[in-house]
Amino acid sequence: MKFGFDIDDTLINLREHAFHLYSKKLDKQVEIERFHELTDVPIHELFGMTREQGKEMWNSQRDSIYYSDCPPFPSAIDVLQQLVREGHEVYYITARAPEHCERTRDWMIAAGFPVDPDRFYCGMSDTEKVHIIERLGLDFYFDDKPAVLDTLTGLPVQVYVKDTSYNRHLTIPRITDWEELLEILNYKQ
Ligand SMILES: [Mg+2]
Repeated sequence: MKFGFDIDDTLINLREHAFHLYSKKLDKQVEIERFHELTDVPIHELFGMTREQGKEMWNSQRDSIYYSDCPPFPSAIDVLQQLVREGHEVYYITARAPEHCERTRDWMIAAGFPVDPDRFYCGMSDTEKVHIIERLGLDFYFDDKPAVLDTLTGLPVQVYVKDTSYNRHLTIPRITDWEELLEILNYKQ
């Protein structure tokens, strides 16, 4: 079967990683509970920044957010490796900007994710992901972002939302821990 995965905040804990980097950079302590209460994707408001300042901060810190030691979610690497071992096809579909695609792919490989360069899609917008997902004929697709997931209704693909504080209003099937995928596929009781 064909499995498609978003990367940021689906396979790796990017926003929380950025939260800690912001905290260090701005020398400002914010309780992690407040991060986990956010009902929207951006994190700038926790640090008293405007949307514009938040955008600037993200862009100026983007290299260290993307390419330092962002932790993968627990079991994400092991579970994807198992999928490949079981003979499945693993696709990555990330809306990171085109200039970050190659480095992102290399970072994912270095982190231990099983990456086939021909199955790594990058540089599209959130709303363009649907076309790639449809064209590839994926059996499963996983993402965290409501703006992406909202475009996928009606496709013949089993869509799961990776649980985060800003997507709890969605009523589609949900993955909280990657081990759950092995249960869904009956690899684990
Ligand atoms: Mg994402």
